[in-house]
Amino acid sequence: MEGQVRRASPRLTRRWFLKAGLMWLACLPLARLASCTPEPALPSPTAPAMPTPAPTLPRHGEGTPTLALHEARHYQSLPDGRVVCGVCFRRCIVAEGKLGFCHNKKNVGGRYYSLVYGRAAALQVDPIEKEPAFHMYPGTHIYCLGTASCNNRCRFCQNWFLSQQTLWQVVSEEASPSEIVRRAREAGCEGVSFTYNEPTVFYEYMLDVATLARQEGFHTLFHTNGSMNRAPLLDLLQVMEAVTVDLKAFDATFYREVCQSELQPVLRTLETIRASGRHLEVVNLVIPTLNDNLDTIDKMCQWIARNLGRDVPLHFLRFFPAYKLQRLPATPVETLEQAAAVADAAGLEHVYIGNLPGHPLNSTFCPGCGTLLIERVHFMVLSVSLDGGRCPTCGRAIPGLWPG
Ligand code: SF4
Repeated sequence: MEGQVRRASPRLTRRWFLKAGLMWLACLPLARLASCTPEPALPSPTAPAMPTPAPTLPRHGEGTPTLALHEARHYQSLPDGRVVCGVCFRRCIVAEGKLGFCHNKKNVGGRYYSLVYGRAAALQVDPIEKEPAFHMYPGTHIYCLGTASCNNRCRFCQNWFLSQQTLWQVVSEEASPSEIVRRAREAGCEGVSFTYNEPTVFYEYMLDVATLARQEGFHTLFHTNGSMNRAPLLDLLQVMEAVTVDLKAFDATFYREVCQSELQPVLRTLETIRASGRHLEVVNLVIPTLNDNLDTIDKMCQWIARNLGRDVPLHFLRFFPAYKLQRLPATPVETLEQAAAVADAAGLEHVYIGNLPGHPLNSTFCPGCGTLLIERVHFMVLSVSLDGGRCPTCGRAIPGLWPG
């Protein structure tokens, strides 16, 4: 039949059955080998608690290593054995044996535990300016602590090797709160900071270290994405002197699509910190094509001026290609300067440009008379000309925490 392809039907003869049978017998040992799945190895009693790092994030709740547990704060046990975590906006509801979204907390027997308490994945001495905290004890050093993981999934994260990894994918070491404070003193630091990955996901550890650090006379601050809920934040602010908050964009879609997060909790956090009287600085990383629209930046600056105050320092940081946004270029200098001009026009009094060493807006000027108050190159402080927290020329009070 023209235009039709006929399929040849196999002829099932006695000879065909004989041949097929012999082939099957010949292949049997191979088939047995191929289908034999080895028994999973049982952990040896002497095996280290931390398993070999996995190449990818395990699925929710899987592959949890055996770790020392420290009971979490701000959670609620439900009658059915699940728990509700109240530390961040996600309010994870976690079944028995499972982990929260951040992978740092686990439900064990209807109680919730932090897996990262006392496990430091990053310990480093930094200038306080690196936080950035430009209105706080300029030129001093802080002992910085980070762990693993995050409750956001920012595609541009510069610290993705910590923040987008689970505890069992990073190298970490045991360091109790007293050990952290001891090391901070030994390193000659005046302050202790919680940074690198999102401190909200190691809330209990941060709270205990900060409490001890304050008792021992250290300055305390943390750098956050602003996603913490109000009750844990208020507890934490009892022992924190200052907070640097990332306001990643003034755009809910950006938060959803680029960070898998939400804008509103961040705005609430900013208002809570401001109302608490703790020192606050705001950071906006300007990413080409994603959040560099000047109208949106203007709305953000207007919101800051109206709701936080015109004297809150705002840092526009230059983006460099990182993590999942390698395809984007670094932020053009003109874009940062335009953003700073928009902030200036909105009435903000302390606007900085960061990640751009040597730019004049690395430094602090008096908003009243223009006197250069703190001269910086990147994180390096060259001179401080404050007089008891005031401009030496016009006497204007400069907001911040200054040496007595
Ligand atoms: S801190 Fe972690 S477990 Fe708690 S709500 Fe946030 S993501 Fe979930």
